[in-house]
Amino acid sequence: MKVIDSIEAFRALRESWTREGKRVSFVPTMGYLHEGHLSLVDIAQNDADCVVVSIFVNPAQFNNPGDLDSYPRETDRDLKLLEDRGVVAVFLPTPEMMYGEGHQTWVTVDDLTEHYEGSGRPGHFRGVTTVVTLLFNIIQPHSAVFGEKDFQQLRVVERMTADLKLPIDILRGPLFREEDGLAMSSRNVRLDKEAKDKALLINQSLFEARQAFQNGERSSEKLTGILRENFKNLDNTTVDYITVVREDTLEAVETAPDKGGRMLTTVEVHGVRLLDNLALE
Ligand code: AMP
Repeated sequence: MKVIDSIEAFRALRESWTREGKRVSFVPTMGYLHEGHLSLVDIAQNDADCVVVSIFVNPAQFNNPGDLDSYPRETDRDLKLLEDRGVVAVFLPTPEMMYGEGHQTWVTVDDLTEHYEGSGRPGHFRGVTTVVTLLFNIIQPHSAVFGEKDFQQLRVVERMTADLKLPIDILRGPLFREEDGLAMSSRNVRLDKEAKDKALLINQSLFEARQAFQNGERSSEKLTGILRENFKNLDNTTVDYITVVREDTLEAVETAPDKGGRMLTTVEVHGVRLLDNLALE
């Protein structure tokens, strides 16, 4: 496995793959890898000859400097996991390489970024869409894999790729959960036992709501009320948003559609932002 920390070195490797007619798939990450990330690597492996993973904690997508500083990092461990999974190259850029002196070019997507993570974290999606564009330009993959864990981000990247006519297939990776049902996240390491117990109410509430949906409930108010009720009297937790949306437009709906609806939520538990979502089907 090649570990590459310069754009020039990656470009040279990429050219050799072009000469050899290789298909390339790409998985962008911020590191501190878990099985959720590795499940995306498996999808990439099935799609291509060469899988490239990037590890980059992108400062441009953090609106809160404390969150950026406390984001967990363990690159040596990550590299070992990726090597064991058959990845051929890992790209490790630095902020200085990605946003050189005088950088002033940004990529933005309008409506899809307006709500949810977009309103809770101003500037977040501009950082995401810009870094993904930069990485796409450097890696030049035929496909790239994004997790449904960050469902809004996935839709934003799909929209951007289509709008900019980028010749890249965006592949979706299903949300991977821990055995107890909590959505896997690099941030889970910051949860102590008490916080973890509270966090589990997120996925339990979503599955309870899906059960209600399957039993015929269609009122968004009632479906989202299950999670709100579960968090009502808990200290040190904030429900940032809980909503039922149409999966394609991410438009909030009052009545869940029979097909193509999804619940999205972010709850802050003991200062840790936890995202989860579940298709209503
Ligand atoms: P991150 O390192 O958090 O930026 O995530 C990198 C990629 O992994 C993104 O496409 C995420 O959506 C995806 N991802 C993170 N956690 C999970 C998970 N639990 N299941 C599936 N994909 C995930």
